[in-house]
Amino acid sequence: MPLLFNIRHLDHQVVTLRGELPVAELDVGGIDELIQADSPLHHDLLVEGHERSILVQGRLELQLRCECARCLKGFEYKLALASWSCLLPMEGEDKVVVNNDCVDLTPYVREDIVLAFPQHPLCEPECRGLPAAAPSGARPLGSASATGELSPAWAELNKLKL
Ligand SMILES: [Zn+2]
Repeated sequence: MPLLFNIRHLDHQVVTLRGELPVAELDVGGIDELIQADSPLHHDLLVEGHERSILVQGRLELQLRCECARCLKGFEYKLALASWSCLLPMEGEDKVVVNNDCVDLTPYVREDIVLAFPQHPLCEPECRGLPAAAPSGARPLGSASATGELSPAWAELNKLKL
C-alpha cells in the first residue's frame, strides 16, 4: 500500500492512514553504510484538509539494523517519530503534487525519517569500541610502566603524538 490519500475525501472529514509502507518504497537504502532498513514503515496518521493546506499528523515507526560506529557490533534500533506532523500547502511555489486527486506522502515521510537516522549509531552510549583497539584512556600516554621504562609500543605511540 503506498502512502496515498485522496483529497476529495478530505472535504468533510479527517482521513486516517494506518498501515505499513514497504521499505523499498521508502527508499532509504544506501544513506548510511552503518544503517540498514529492511522492515516496513509503520504509520498511523490523521489527514485534515484546511482551506489552503493539508495537515498530516501522527506516528511513524521504522525498525533499523545498525552497526555500532565504534565496535561494529550489529544492533536493532527503533526509529519512532511519535508526533510527526507535516503541513502541505495547496497553493504557491511549494504546493503539493496532486495526481488523480491523490497526494503521495512518501517523499515527506522519507525526508523526516532520514533526518531522524542516528548520526553516530552506538550499540550502547558507553561503548568503548573494539577490545583490540588502542587502550584509550586506560593509561595516560607517556606514563612510565612499572619498570620505569616505556615499552617500545608506547614509545612509538608517543612519537606519533608529537
Ligand atoms: Zn559498540
